[in-house]
Amino acid sequence: MRTETKAYAAQSADTPLAPWNLQRREPKPHDVEIEILFCGVCHSDLHTARGEWAGTVYPCVPGHEIVGRVTRVGDNVKKYKAGDLAAVGCMVDSCRECDNCKDGLEQYCKEGMVGTYNGKQRDGSGNTYGGYSNKIVVHEDFVLRIFDKLPLEGVAPLLCAGITTYSPLKHWKVGKGDKVGVVGLGGLGHMGVKLAVSFGAEVTMLSHSANKEADAKRLGAHKFVLTSDEQQVKSLNNYFDFILDTVSATHDYNLYLNMLNTNGKMICVGAPPDPIQTPAFNLIFQRRSIAGSLIGGIPETQEMLDYCAEHNIVSDVEVINIKDINEAYERMIKGDVRYRFVIDMATL
Ligand code: NAP
Ligand code: ZN
Ligand code: ZN
Repeated sequence: MRTETKAYAAQSADTPLAPWNLQRREPKPHDVEIEILFCGVCHSDLHTARGEWAGTVYPCVPGHEIVGRVTRVGDNVKKYKAGDLAAVGCMVDSCRECDNCKDGLEQYCKEGMVGTYNGKQRDGSGNTYGGYSNKIVVHEDFVLRIFDKLPLEGVAPLLCAGITTYSPLKHWKVGKGDKVGVVGLGGLGHMGVKLAVSFGAEVTMLSHSANKEADAKRLGAHKFVLTSDEQQVKSLNNYFDFILDTVSATHDYNLYLNMLNTNGKMICVGAPPDPIQTPAFNLIFQRRSIAGSLIGGIPETQEMLDYCAEHNIVSDVEVINIKDINEAYERMIKGDVRYRFVIDMATL
């Protein structure tokens, strides 16, 4: 048996998102059924819905920053019960048997993790559909615990923007004494600033939007540099230990590579469709490196949620009606979001 679920879907790369009904499976013994209360709007939703990355299967229901309330659980579920708050991030399954899965790095599963949307269910039952919907059914191993201490709409973006910035900062042990540049003040960028500051680093916001300076400082950034200002950019030559690049559009990485000090690392989390291009010399000199990082594993996502609850860290959000999702996408492209749109799912 399956349950009818209301959703918003893109039917092709160039049609706006619109209402569409899908079927969710009945909870199996290890499944948790969640009524979705809020879902954050990630730039990856837009890249996928509009076919900017290869491989979108339509209809596509985006959304992987999901918070809600448990409505039903399967017979074998011990960790959750009806009425509990719960969250789902970017993955709903993985092989659970490879080295990475065993190490809690399900995002790097050797067989490929199953994305919350535009993924293939491992049992062959079809495509996955995300959080722009009123209900989701997920294996308990991929459900996260959240608390009512913080506003739920501000917690939702932690499930992607939060963990995607937390994970690399932790992996490279960024903290006191480190100089960090965060490129792009959007959903990921503003969480990167908050988290890096909370870890004790000196944080500089590198933005192409002059009107974001006051916000960057309010979010905790120690400095703000407008990347179109040649003088300011030059003053940062060989300056940073780490740069976290969150930019969603094609841009020149070389501008930032030159800001890295000896052994400095440029961590790319932003995923524009075009390749990164740089002369080898920009890496050879000062022994710089470029790295990437994908979301975070389930144990680390729980660790991040607990850390944010303890330190009162949430996302700055603008709550929207789902009917305004297409307009929100246009505003996101223009960088006109302070700093994450979150859909109130009661409007679906
Ligand atoms: P977002 O909210 O739209 O923020 C992107 C920011 O990039 C903008 O606010 C803007 O900041 C900057 N930017 C935009 N266009 C630019 C341009 N033409 N030149 C220079 N800067 C520009 O997006 P998001 O949701 O944070 O996502 C950012 C990227 O990360 C997307 O590509 C997304 O797919 C990717 N992502 C990756 C992962 C992962 O696991 N690695 C996870 C989630 C998302 P300023 O106005 O301050 O310059
Ligand atoms: Zn995302
Ligand atoms: Zn695996």
